[in-house]
Amino acid sequence: MDNQEIKPESILSKLESIKYSRILLVAFIALLCSVLVHFGLQSNQRAAAIQSSKVRLGNFDVVPPNLKYGFLLDSFQIDEKTILANEFISDILTRYKVNYLDIEHMVTTYKDVFDVRLLRAGKPYTVLSADTSQTADYFIYEPSVYSYIVFDFKNKTVQKVERPIETRIEKASGIIETSLWNTMVDNGLSFELTAKMEDALAWSVDFHYIQKGDRFKLIYERNYIDGKPVGVGEIKGAYYKNYDNEYYAFLFENDRHSGFYDYEARPMKKAFLKSPVQYSRVSSGYNLRRFHPILKRRKPHYGTDYAAPRGTPIRAVADGVIVKKGYTKGNGNYVKIKHDKVYQTQYLHMNGFAKGMGNGVHVKQGQTIGYVGSTGLATGPHVCFRFWKNGRQVNHLRENLPPPEPMPSEDIPKFNEIRDVLKVELDSIEFKKMDRVVEDQTTQDSTLTSNP
Ligand SMILES: [Zn+2]
Repeated sequence: MDNQEIKPESILSKLESIKYSRILLVAFIALLCSVLVHFGLQSNQRAAAIQSSKVRLGNFDVVPPNLKYGFLLDSFQIDEKTILANEFISDILTRYKVNYLDIEHMVTTYKDVFDVRLLRAGKPYTVLSADTSQTADYFIYEPSVYSYIVFDFKNKTVQKVERPIETRIEKASGIIETSLWNTMVDNGLSFELTAKMEDALAWSVDFHYIQKGDRFKLIYERNYIDGKPVGVGEIKGAYYKNYDNEYYAFLFENDRHSGFYDYEARPMKKAFLKSPVQYSRVSSGYNLRRFHPILKRRKPHYGTDYAAPRGTPIRAVADGVIVKKGYTKGNGNYVKIKHDKVYQTQYLHMNGFAKGMGNGVHVKQGQTIGYVGSTGLATGPHVCFRFWKNGRQVNHLRENLPPPEPMPSEDIPKFNEIRDVLKVELDSIEFKKMDRVVEDQTTQDSTLTSNP
């Protein structure tokens, strides 16, 4: 590996020219960030530097206008409140002397722009009045950080405004002390980023078997609105060191592919996922001499048990066809999938099945087929995962499973170009405790169903 010095700014601009859109803004912000990181600024100072709205010009502070929702706030009476339980838009607006017929007319005319039944208790709204009469000129409702709705009572219109999302490229790293989740939290990284890292590396790293001293590095997109982090975009590159094995994952997208590839351009995505449940732990492995906790005798355990909270989605580990969806006293609710002539998988003790499951139904890798439960002979909520090879149950963690299709050779030069830029960037990240950053505001958008 030639580890020649390349300035971060040239790498980032190279990345930009290779693929990424949102060109100028992202490149500029990324450059600014990398320069600030370079000088060792703390992330809060960094954020402050970017957000700072006060500009010094000569000896004078230039204070920018007080703008919100595109309005010059200094010229209005402002009322900022949150929707109460069981409060309707008419309840609010009649308090601000808006004519009931006007409300009804606007609500019906603009129901495709905003359906007022979607008002939610606890969400913020702002009323602007041009004079002291307390008569509303504008009602602004904010359903999420991503957009807001403006009711304009002068022009009798309703408009939805999407806030511009600014994407920055950021870096993260960590060394596992207790668990991956704790390490991410200790380093001020969000659950969303943890989940995306697991997805990027899921086919190479078995996150059930990570250990103290494992380390990771990430290059990823972070979305900002008005300078505040609102969520994680795509992971561009990931590195993970587990025991003595090093793994790289590079995002590559064109009109034929979209996914993660290793250094040799082999897809990270394998024909089989390592486990049927995310964010779980192996509570009992494949063991031919196991003592059964309920039957109180030795009974071979032909499966791997993954403990997870009741209701956690169970996913098909590979594409296939459901050959059996049923219930037995021992298995509880279960599904068995045939993947090809050789392999079948089975998932036991489900709380319930996913919608549309049935004998003969085709399922895709990663598709939810049911939910974790404890039906049948089970002491607590878990999935007993069984892996069949040529009609015999085997330990799937010991199997050499079929390799994925390689990337077509015509795409490799382009891939190598992106990979080389990302690898230099990844390798230059140092392992150290990151500054704590503001938790993303979009926790409600998180797909997580369980705690670490
Ligand atoms: Zn089991």
